[in-house]
Amino acid sequence: MSLDPAVWPVTAACSPAGVLGLGGVGVDELAASFGTPALVLDEADFRDRCRQWRTAFADSEVYYAGKAFLCLALARWLVEEDLSLDVCSGGELLVAERAGFPAARLLFHGNNKSPAELRRAVELGVGRIVVDSAVEIDRLARTAAAAGIRQRVLIRVTPGVEAHTHEYVATGQEDQKFGFSLASGAAAEAARQVLALPSLELVGLHAHIGSQIFDTSGYRLAIRRLVALLADIRAEHGNERGVFAELNLGGGLGIAYTDADAPMPAMELADALAAAVGKECAAVGYPPPRLAVEPGRAIVGSSTVTLYEVGTVKELPGLRTYVSVDGGMSDNIRTALYGAHYTAVLASRASNADVQLVTVCGKHCESGDIVVREVALPADLAPGDLLAVPGSGAYHYSMASTYNHVPRPPVVAVAGGRAREIVRRETEDDLLRLDVVP
Ligand SMILES: *Cc1c(COP(=O)(O)O)cnc(C)c1O
Repeated sequence: MSLDPAVWPVTAACSPAGVLGLGGVGVDELAASFGTPALVLDEADFRDRCRQWRTAFADSEVYYAGKAFLCLALARWLVEEDLSLDVCSGGELLVAERAGFPAARLLFHGNNKSPAELRRAVELGVGRIVVDSAVEIDRLARTAAAAGIRQRVLIRVTPGVEAHTHEYVATGQEDQKFGFSLASGAAAEAARQVLALPSLELVGLHAHIGSQIFDTSGYRLAIRRLVALLADIRAEHGNERGVFAELNLGGGLGIAYTDADAPMPAMELADALAAAVGKECAAVGYPPPRLAVEPGRAIVGSSTVTLYEVGTVKELPGLRTYVSVDGGMSDNIRTALYGAHYTAVLASRASNADVQLVTVCGKHCESGDIVVREVALPADLAPGDLLAVPGSGAYHYSMASTYNHVPRPPVVAVAGGRAREIVRRETEDDLLRLDVVP
C-alpha cells in the first residue's frame, strides 16, 4: 500500500504486515480499543499545519475556522499553537468559552446572529464581530451600548468573487445570503451606518470567497475590489475616521482528498496575498492593512482518517461491486451533499489480490449514502476488513448526524504511540437522551 503524503496525515505509515499506523498506533489496535467507525486525528499533523500557517502569516492574524471541526481539546491546542479562533454560532462560542480561549482572540461571524448570541459575545469580550446586515448593526450597537463597551467590528463584504472548487463563477455571486454587496453600494452604506454609532468601532473589512480553492486568482481579484472600497471609504470620511487597519480575507484554501488534487502551501498563499495587498494599496496610496485569514479545512482536513469495518460485499454482475461499511452519511455527508471525491485503502492487512473498482457505501437508508464513489481496492476484500478514508478532518464530525439512530463515532487523537478520545462515541443512552415520553 503506498500512501500519498499530500493526502495522508504526516505520521501515516504502513507496517510490513500491511497494517496502517497513525501517530504510531496500528489501526487494528485502534479498532479494538475504540470500535468502528472512528475518526482518528493525527495530533502532530494538526499541530504541524497550525505552525505552517503561523509561520507563513507571521505578520497577520490566523483564525482557525471552528466550523470545520471544534471540540474542547482542539481549542486548547489552538491556544498552545498561538492561533486565534473564528466562531459562527453561540454553540461554537460556548466551546471557546469552556476551553478558556482568550476572548480577545475570538472572531464571531454569521448572517443571523441572535440578540442572545450577540449579547453573550459582547459580555464575553469577543475581539471582533463581523457585522452582516443593517438590522444586526443596530442590534449590536444597542447591545454594546447597554454593556457600556465599544465593540470592534468588521464589515462582511461580498466582493463579487465566488470560488466553486476549481473555478470562479462570474454570475450569481451577488445573489447570496452573506454580507453587504460591494457593487450595489451596500457595503459603503454599512460603513456609514457603523461610523455613525459611537458604541461600535470599525476596524476593517471581511470577505470569504469560497472553499476548496487551489489558486490565488480569486483572492487577488477580491483584494483589488476590497482595497478600492477602503480607498472610497477614506475619500468619503477622511483620514481620521475612514482609515481601517484590518483586512480579513476569510478561509477557503483547498486540500488533497485524492492524488488528483494539488493543494497550495500556506506560504505560497501568504506571499501572494501580501504581494497583492501591497500592490493594490500602493496604487491608491492606502496604508497596507494588517491581514487576517481563517483557514479551517487547510488546517484540520488532512489530519484525520475515518476507520470503517467492512460489513458486506455485494457484486452486481456487469454493474458494480458495493462494499458496505458501518458508517456513512451520518459521519460523512460531503459525498451526498457535494459529490465530493475520496479515496480509501484496505488498512488492516496486506493483500496480493488484483484490485477492482468498487463503490464504498454506508449503512443508511438512502441510496445516495455513498462514502467513496469509485476506488480501486483488492478483490479479496471481505467482511471484517478495515477500510481507512483520509481527508476526514473538516466538515465530517462537525456535520455529523444521528440519521437512522446511528450513534456518532468518536474522535480519537493519536500521537507518539498513544491514543485517546477527544470526543467519545455516542452511546445508546445518548441517542435517547432528548426523548420525552409524556
Ligand atoms: C467556512 C468559512 C471559513 C473556513 O473555510 P475553509 O474552507 O474551511 O477554510 C472561514 N471563514 C468564513 C467566514 C467561513 O464561512
